[in-house]
Amino acid sequence: MKPLIVANWKCNPTTLQEAKRLFNSVKEEMRNLKNSEVVICPPFVYLSNIQYLKSNIKLGAQDCFWEGKGAFTGEISPLMLKNLGCEYVIVGHSERRKLGETDEMINKKIKAALSAKLKPILCIGETGEERKQGKTFKVLKNQLKNDLKYLISNIYYLKSLIIAYEPLWAIGTGNPCEPKEAKKVYLFLRKILAPYQACFGAGLKKIPILYGGSVNSENATSYIHEANFQGLLVGGASLKAEEFIKMVRIVSNY
Ligand code: PEP
Repeated sequence: MKPLIVANWKCNPTTLQEAKRLFNSVKEEMRNLKNSEVVICPPFVYLSNIQYLKSNIKLGAQDCFWEGKGAFTGEISPLMLKNLGCEYVIVGHSERRKLGETDEMINKKIKAALSAKLKPILCIGETGEERKQGKTFKVLKNQLKNDLKYLISNIYYLKSLIIAYEPLWAIGTGNPCEPKEAKKVYLFLRKILAPYQACFGAGLKKIPILYGGSVNSENATSYIHEANFQGLLVGGASLKAEEFIKMVRIVSNY
């Protein structure tokens, strides 16, 4: 499987011109990209403009609602995103959980995204305090159990699901989880996910697991080649075209 590199622009940049400039700089360099899949998730308001600049970069959103349409002021539905050309959507990012998003809401969003034929990237991760207290595995297991409720062994749903392990203490801090530590989590998640993907059959496709948290061009390959993740979720470093391009090149040429 080609590594999947997902850029989460979060609430940046502040003008459409800057968004187009950033997208175009990356796009130019990705023209001959073969060995990895790159997804850019800009803020909602730039999606329709960026759609027309599409190349072999895939488009993703940073969140979605769980209903298709109706009286839900301010919400964006998975169907709207699909109809705009999005293929992916981030769900349950810790910055949204911090604003009050619950596992129950995340579960509904994942189901809605999958029904709209989007590929949800479900973010899970422990806080620094939970890690210190030795609760990392317990927290992750609970998040997966609650966020994926009713999805177990349903091939129709699970074939498009992606998981991103994002330790909260590593996001935006410049303090990444060491690949050796991240590998322990990766192996644990694989074990937890085994019954979910039992419907895929032995040796077939695995649910991809990405690592996210202070990834840069220096440490990117270690998560893929040492820790065995299937890709990366990149925040801060995806806003610097040169750094992001360097990272994609390094991962793709390995
Ligand atoms: C993120 O917010 O998903 C993230 C990984 O951010 P950063 O790369 O800046 O740590």
